[in-house]
Amino acid sequence: MAEKRMFIVLLGAPGAGKGTQAKLLEEAAQLPQISTGDIFRFNLKNQTELGKLAKSYMDTGALVPDEVTIRMVEDRLQQPDAARGAIMDGFPRNLVQATAFDLMVAPYGGVTVVPMIGVDDEEVIRRITGRRSCKSCGAIYHVLYNPPKVAGVCDKDGGELTQRDDDREETVRNRLFVYYKQTAPLIGYYYAKGLLAEVDGMQPIEDVAAALKALLKV
Ligand code: ADP
Ligand code: ADP
Repeated sequence: MAEKRMFIVLLGAPGAGKGTQAKLLEEAAQLPQISTGDIFRFNLKNQTELGKLAKSYMDTGALVPDEVTIRMVEDRLQQPDAARGAIMDGFPRNLVQATAFDLMVAPYGGVTVVPMIGVDDEEVIRRITGRRSCKSCGAIYHVLYNPPKVAGVCDKDGGELTQRDDDREETVRNRLFVYYKQTAPLIGYYYAKGLLAEVDGMQPIEDVAAALKALLKV
């Protein structure tokens, strides 16, 4: 077996706070965040073939086909910054992807731990509808819960804050439906492997971060 790596799989509904927490953990855990949603959005913005393919699925809130998504993650894990492991944000998202991911990380000791960030449905809708992100650096804000110092402007690099196209209410309901149908079964999948760790996602951002750091011992 190759040298052991740390693979953290963040589970939680859309809007639960996975991206926010992954970014806060990157430095403490010394691991990169791998967000499949961010990679798809990057490709969309740059109008690559992958972006064109992903767009029709993302517009409705459906999952991009597994074959494409799995290959994309395999490639991403080959990058040098993932040599010690990664914080997975938004992948795996169904049982096919979870099984494929197990095979990818098996040589490095498998998935290390699966924090499940639990948040109520109504709160998820409030979080998603108020979410804004920086067009240039991707930093995540919330108009009420985590506002920038100047409205519409990123604190970090002065970039413009925008709302994601798929964060409109109609698409959000479908994404929640897709989550319950396809992603929620992963809770049982990882529980059965003894890897699941529940984290209360209803707390303020800093408290969720502290709970995750304690869990991961970073
Ligand atoms: P959120 O966590 O806010 O729901 P993401 O940024 O993770 O959103 O995902 C946005 C969209 O990108 C999803 O609705 C889906 O279309 C696509 N996507 C992201 N990750 C995956 C994945 N692992 N498998 C398939 N599609 C994905
Ligand atoms: P996900 O990646 O799971 O879709 P995000 O990290 O993008 O979720 O968070 C969704 C929205 O909720 C963002 O606007 C973010 O600022 C806000 N948010 C994240 N965590 C919390 C929290 N613990 N309390 C309040 N708002 C939060």
